[in-house]
Amino acid sequence: MAIDFTQYIASYENYPEPGVLFRDISPLLENGDAYKAATNEIVKFARERDVDMVVGPEARGFIVGCPVANELGVGFSPARKQDKLPGEIISASYDLEYGKASLCLRKDAIKKGQRVLVTDDLLATGGTIDATIRMVEELGGIVVGTAFIIELEELNGRDKIADYDILSLVKY
Ligand code: 5GP
Repeated sequence: MAIDFTQYIASYENYPEPGVLFRDISPLLENGDAYKAATNEIVKFARERDVDMVVGPEARGFIVGCPVANELGVGFSPARKQDKLPGEIISASYDLEYGKASLCLRKDAIKKGQRVLVTDDLLATGGTIDATIRMVEELGGIVVGTAFIIELEELNGRDKIADYDILSLVKY
């Protein structure tokens, strides 16, 4: 029977600022069976798409992507915030509510033609995942799917990445 992952998501009103309802995956991560079950769902999605590389944005994209990559036996490359990656990098910026932020990827993280799964904990407006996808494609990777624990439907992030297959385990 499919697990109802909502029971492992905590919700915090007015965090990190007034008016925001923060959805927290910590209870899921702290429960071995739930974390494994969530990972398994994403692994299944990835196997159907012949994934040979996983990329996730800092920081919770690592928590979702690393166990998936490990289970698949493929590599994981972290998309990190500015000034965190040494060596040759590429970057992509995206809009925040106020201002802009950017993510970076190692220039040789992806080989041309590699089939890449992009992961994060949560899809909101889609800016973070879209920036990550753009970097993967700039390096010649083929984004064959995106996977999230949570999708906040009213923020319409799905529209921003409408060209890609999306797996989200919990929708609000
Ligand atoms: P987006 O770029 O899609 O608007 O926002 C998604 C990014 O912001 C993700 O990297 C996610 O970790 C973070 N984020 C935004 N809102 C929440 C939230 O309510 N809960 C969690 N866990 N992360 C959030």
